[in-house]
Order: sequence, then structure tokens, then C-alpha cells
Amino acid sequence: MVEIRKPIPVSEAVERVIARAEKTGTEKVPLGESTGRILAGPVRATHPVPPFDRSPYDGFAVRSQDTKGASGDSRILFRVIDEIGAGHVSEKTVGEREAVRIMTGAPIPDGADAVVMFEQTSGEGAGFTIRKPFDPLENVSLKGEDLEEGEEVVPAGAFIHPGTIAVLATFGYAEVEVARRPVVGILATGTELLYVSEPLAPGKIRNSNGPMVMAQLRRMGIPYRTYGAQADDLDSVVQTVEKAVAETDAVITTGGVSVGDYDFLPAVYERLGADVLFNKVAMRPGSVTTVAAGGGKFLFGLSGNPSACFTGFELFVRPALLRMMGARKPFLPHTKAVLGEDFTKANPFTRFIRAVYDGKTASPAGFNKSNAVSSIARGNALIVLPGGSRGFRKGDEVDVLLLGVEEGSPGWMK
Ligand code: AMP
Ligand code: MG
Repeated sequence: MVEIRKPIPVSEAVERVIARAEKTGTEKVPLGESTGRILAGPVRATHPVPPFDRSPYDGFAVRSQDTKGASGDSRILFRVIDEIGAGHVSEKTVGEREAVRIMTGAPIPDGADAVVMFEQTSGEGAGFTIRKPFDPLENVSLKGEDLEEGEEVVPAGAFIHPGTIAVLATFGYAEVEVARRPVVGILATGTELLYVSEPLAPGKIRNSNGPMVMAQLRRMGIPYRTYGAQADDLDSVVQTVEKAVAETDAVITTGGVSVGDYDFLPAVYERLGADVLFNKVAMRPGSVTTVAAGGGKFLFGLSGNPSACFTGFELFVRPALLRMMGARKPFLPHTKAVLGEDFTKANPFTRFIRAVYDGKTASPAGFNKSNAVSSIARGNALIVLPGGSRGFRKGDEVDVLLLGVEEGSPGWMK
């Protein structure tokens, strides 16, 4: 008997997955290795930035009161009493019509409250003249103008990118507390599958989903273990999935989630006693995408069809893994775009079309069936067409999910 499955909306499926994500815990890593990780706690400014009033230019530190009345016709002469580069502190106090030659980043000497840039002076050596007055604090970078002590700079759950590294380094984080990355097991199922290095044989195809999913994980910096490709045999698939579940935090299988004679994954979930969160999603491709959870671990049953497998990963696996790490922005970033060509196929389910997005227009990336492999290679985005419509016309505004962007969105596309 063929089981009747009730499709649920994509947004609800995403919510169900996210709700079951259990935190992986945290670990400390050296600063240099923290790029791409998820920050476990907020970063607060442990001191003001800059930590002292400093010069933003190469020039002369002076007392602004001494510059009053300076003009082209009535230049004012200053005497240089000291010189400092960045990293040095002047011992002198700047007095009337005195100046300290100062380089970018050096602390403003006592007495001075303004900096005259070299370009604003004439004369060399022990003295120079100026031709305009300077306001108090003109050309001075004030202590704390960038960050005040105690201010939250980056929140917990942020993705660590090069700018985050700059802040962490500023505050002396030689080690950074980050979320532990989940380890993911990958198993391709299908008696027809060959390894990449094998020659084609009648009725067989090479396993492309396994390497593709590995690359999707690698793009996220997530470690994985591969359990190869398995023939459609219930007992051996159960055995391998059990082993994978024991050794990893989440297991991705591809293939075998439909209702065909050799689609054993539903039976595998039953044998393992896993809680099936859904087994039918109102989406194309990948309506048979199944997610189960148990013992704090996920089992992602992605379709064997390459485009469906790819899409299932991006829609469900990606946010689930990011949420396990406490990421604030676990969803694919989304934007609006102009549809580049007609798409008239009637469509009861939400459709995710591999697409080429150029910053303005999004056009389908070629052969558009769930078993397509070409359009995954050509696309850099997914056009999202809501279900229940008659079709879309070139020029219509559509939603687009962006792929391969390191930082995501805080919410699922509305
Ligand atoms: P299934 O989800 O097992 O019903 O498979 C759906 C389609 O995807 C079939 O045409 C399979 O041959 C194909 N397929 C399954 N697994 C893979 C894989 N790992 N790589 C490429 N194609 C696959
Ligand atoms: Mg199969």
C-alpha cells in the first residue's frame, strides 16, 4: 500500500527543523582559526577605542588658542619643541606658540588640543607658519570615539568575518570562544550508484550527490564523515545509518525517501525509532524531503534527484546546522529581483528554481527538472515562486534566495 503523505508549507517545515536544533556547545580556538566560526558570546569593548586622544594625521600638535586670527596676510609662527611617532609619548607640555611634530597614531601631547596637518603649514626645520585658525579638538581622534568601554561590539551568535577578527584582536582575544561545529555524516543510497572514479556501466550513474553535499558542508566550514554509497538494502542501510548516527551529530542521506519499491529510508526511520518531523513538503523540487530527529541528532533524508538534494540542503540542513551553533542568521539571505524570462508552468507547490542572479535580474539557470544537474552548476541563487499561481512573466518581481553568501539572514523569507 502506498502511504499517503500530507504536504506542509516550506516555512512550517523550516520551523519544525529549527525548533529541534540542539546546541553543540562551545570551544576555544586561536584567533587566527576563528574566521568563519560562530561566536559563542558577545564581544564587549574592554577599553575605549582609541584608548587615548591621538593624531589622525602627520602634522604638528598645537594649542588652538594660539591659532586665533591666523590668515594668509597674518601668518602665525610656531616653534617645534619635540617630535613623536606612533608608539611614543611626548614628555613635553605644549606652551604658547609651541608645537610638537606628531605622526599619525601618536598621542596628543599635554597642552595641545589641535593638529595642524603638514599640508597646512609653510616652513621647515625648527619652525613653521599657519594661515588659518584651528578649533579646539580639530584634527584630533578622541579617546572612545570609535567604541566606548563596555559597549557590545558584536553579539553572540555572530558569524566571524575579517572585520570581527579586527575587533577581537583589538581587545586582546588571543583565543576566541566559538560554537563547536557539528560533525555531519553523509550516506548516498541507490543500487545504481557508482563512485566518481568508476567507469559508467549500463543502468548505473555516478554518485554526484555525495560530493556535492560534501562541498555544501565545506562551504559552511562544517566537518563531515562520509559513509560512501550504499545499495538499496534495508538491513545494510539501517546498519550504516545507525553507525553514522553514533559517530556524528547529524546524518544526511540522499535518495530512497520516496514511495518506490526500493525507497527504504522511511523504514529506516521506523527501525531507528526516530521522530519524523515531516516527510512531504509543498515544494518543488524535493517534495519528498524528510527530516527526522532523535537523541539530539538530526537525520536529513534528502531526495536523490540532484537539484532536489541541493535545494533540500540549502533550505533545511544549512539553517539547522547553523542553529545548532547558535547562529543569529541561519537562513539564506534573500532579496527581490526582476524575473528575467517567462515562467508559465502551473504550480501548486512553492517552486525553487536554480537561477542566475546578477544583482538585479534573476533568470532560470537552464534545464529545470528535479533531476537536473546542469542548472545547479550554472546557478548562484534560487528564485522562489509561490505555489497556487498561474505562472509568472518576465519583468515580474520575484523573491530570490542567495547562495554561497557567507553571512545569512536572521529570518526565513516572508
Ligand atoms: P531516489 O530519491 O532514490 O528515488 O532517486 C531519484 C533519482 O535521483 C534517481 O534517478 C536516482 O538515480 C538519482 N540519484 C539518486 N542518488 C543519487 C546520487 N547520489 N547522485 C546522483 N543521482 C542520484
Ligand atoms: Mg533510489
